[in-house]
Amino acid sequence: MTPDNGERTLAYLSTIPVSRVKGLTGKRASALNAAGIENVADLLLHVPRRYIDRSTTATIADAPLGEEVTVVGTVHDINMRRVRRNLAIINATIFDGETYLFVTWFNQTFRERQLPPGTEVALSGKLERRRGRLEMKTPEADVLDRPGESLTTGRVVPVHPGVKGVSPGYLRRGIHNAVRRSLPVGDPIPVEMRDRLGLMDRSAAVAAVHFPESIEEVAPARDRLVFDEFFRLEVALALQKRRQIDEAVGISHVRAADGLVAEMTKGLPFALTAAQQRVIDEVQSDMTRPHPMHRLLLGDVGSGKTVVAVAAMLTAVDGGHQGAVMAPTEVLAVQHFLSIGGLLAGAGMAPPLEARGMGSLFTQTEPERPVKLALLTGSNAEANYRDSITRAELVDEIAAGTVDIVVGTHALIQEGLHFHRLGVAVVDEQHRFGVHQRVELREKGVDAEPDLLIMTATPIPRTLSMTLYGDLDVSSIARDEMPPGRPEVETVALAKSPAAEKRWLQRIRDEAAAGNQSFVVCPLVEDSLKVEAASATAERERLVGLLPELRVGLLHGQMIPADKASVMAAFRDRELDVLVATTVIEVGIDIPHSTVMVIEDADRFGLSQLHQLRGRLSRGVGPNYCFLVADPTTTESEARLAAMVASDDGFVLAEEDLRIRGQGTVFGARQAGTADLRIADLLRDTQLLIDARREAFALVAADPDLSDSPAVATEVQALLGDAVAWLFVS
Ligand code: ADP
Ligand code: MG
Repeated sequence: MTPDNGERTLAYLSTIPVSRVKGLTGKRASALNAAGIENVADLLLHVPRRYIDRSTTATIADAPLGEEVTVVGTVHDINMRRVRRNLAIINATIFDGETYLFVTWFNQTFRERQLPPGTEVALSGKLERRRGRLEMKTPEADVLDRPGESLTTGRVVPVHPGVKGVSPGYLRRGIHNAVRRSLPVGDPIPVEMRDRLGLMDRSAAVAAVHFPESIEEVAPARDRLVFDEFFRLEVALALQKRRQIDEAVGISHVRAADGLVAEMTKGLPFALTAAQQRVIDEVQSDMTRPHPMHRLLLGDVGSGKTVVAVAAMLTAVDGGHQGAVMAPTEVLAVQHFLSIGGLLAGAGMAPPLEARGMGSLFTQTEPERPVKLALLTGSNAEANYRDSITRAELVDEIAAGTVDIVVGTHALIQEGLHFHRLGVAVVDEQHRFGVHQRVELREKGVDAEPDLLIMTATPIPRTLSMTLYGDLDVSSIARDEMPPGRPEVETVALAKSPAAEKRWLQRIRDEAAAGNQSFVVCPLVEDSLKVEAASATAERERLVGLLPELRVGLLHGQMIPADKASVMAAFRDRELDVLVATTVIEVGIDIPHSTVMVIEDADRFGLSQLHQLRGRLSRGVGPNYCFLVADPTTTESEARLAAMVASDDGFVLAEEDLRIRGQGTVFGARQAGTADLRIADLLRDTQLLIDARREAFALVAADPDLSDSPAVATEVQALLGDAVAWLFVS
């Protein structure tokens, strides 16, 4: 089973099932498979979550009292008493050869099975002396060895992440066998690169991460394996990107000095910010290249992304192409139509949308070449150049090339809407990232692949943009580069109480007296729009009673579109003082006079959702106030609220969100192959990621088909496999 050269590469080890490892056959192999550990490579990458350094663990007698400590001993006896129907007490005595320790757990009935007498166990918890004896209550317990089995390890005992159905001792011994049989593990990283980056040899790393001689060996060993994990991913991303460049035929748009973008820039009532100018430059220089643009624009709510999107589309329109904007929801599509229409009109490049149906209000300054904008959604067909248009007519005009810019939903534009010459598509993902969408759009271009600009209003941490979005180029608008004049939002978290309610109600009254408006966001109800709507309706009734002098409206997801639209219009026209709403207001609603947002049961919302909601404020007049009303029940929800109070910088909150939720959740929700980051920690290992990305992209630039690095190529394919299949979709 050993390859010719005596070296077992990870790719080769990934072909050997775990059932071939001594001690991990049969049922244990099935249990490992169920946990995603199918082959020997998987097993080697199942690295310990912590280590118990027995050379430094104190004896029970010497361990300090009142602190978290880890002590090691053998179970002397263990028993369980059922005190009440819902209370079982488990008592155990642990002996370390000198001293007895008395341990208590409540209701953890599995402890009896986990820790039969004779088991060697490491207990972590607070040591206390009570009535003359040493005690620990509800400690964590890591089984070191079962009775009658000898520990195969030295002074540092690895604690591997648990696998259901395989006892920790068996797992450790199985991994020990696998490591022993696998060494030396082939190292695809050239010595030169290793030396330059100060990385240790792979064989040494595999051995040391699982069975270190001393605790000091662990960190460099782990770093090496983390680097490898990032490197594989980044090589895959670099290859993907390389292929886009080599194979895909794009449109070489022309950047005209006196074109429509210049006309827009001159016509706008404000000067572009330096960041907008920079991003427009990045986008335009991508668009002039012969291969398609794949660029991600990160910019917080209010950072001025619309201008950038319009500039990209006008660049295409200048050369006789069309632009499309894809929004995740119908409401957002309408909002984009309104804001793009407003922007074009403001720059004197198209008639104002309000002018439709009133004859031409535009006769004085009729632009030479009005930009033709249209909205096409499931229930809307509108154009800025005609009073009314049917869907069928609009579909024809899009195909004929009459329309310059089409705004629609993702679904609409993907499902076979035929363009005359689609030159650029702007995908607005809000915070609903959909990795696959950008792949599917590529068939849309008629003569060539359209350029693609993905905009997101939820900044993502740099580490995520380098992994999850690693094949995209990234432009970002930082917090301190946003357009000037956005009023500050003062955010407070309030416990639910009559006093708190009095406080926010008074703020609503005061602001209404000053002619300003308030949002009251009702609790999120998981999985039931109906219940959510009912609770919003009830809350509105309640507020009508509490604020009899004010005009209180209602908006929820169960209302029919026409009713939603008329409520929104009434609120925009300041015919309402307060809008009680569910999260349908989360996106795309621009109300200049809204100065207050009350979010009820704010602990039920995710951090990015809270940030998006609050982003509805700060649209015009100020100061603004955001009340987060909640009695948080978990440390996570408490942390989210604290983060919201501490910062309104989307980038900071995104990092915080990753910290609070952990990368597993973030990746899990995003269906990408990066879920395969098993060892790396995106918050902690940022520098290794930066190094790995740089090296991977350099390698692929120098050797695009990896013909000089076959070991790297084989390993990427073998280890990423299906998980990165989407990267290789054409
Ligand atoms: P985003 O789409 O990134 O949330 P928008 O493009 O809607 O942001 O812009 C937010 C607001 O800022 C809009 O009212 C827009 O007119 C205004 N704005 C955009 N760019 C500038 C600028 N350079 N100077 C002043 N105001 C700007
Ligand atoms: Mg191009």
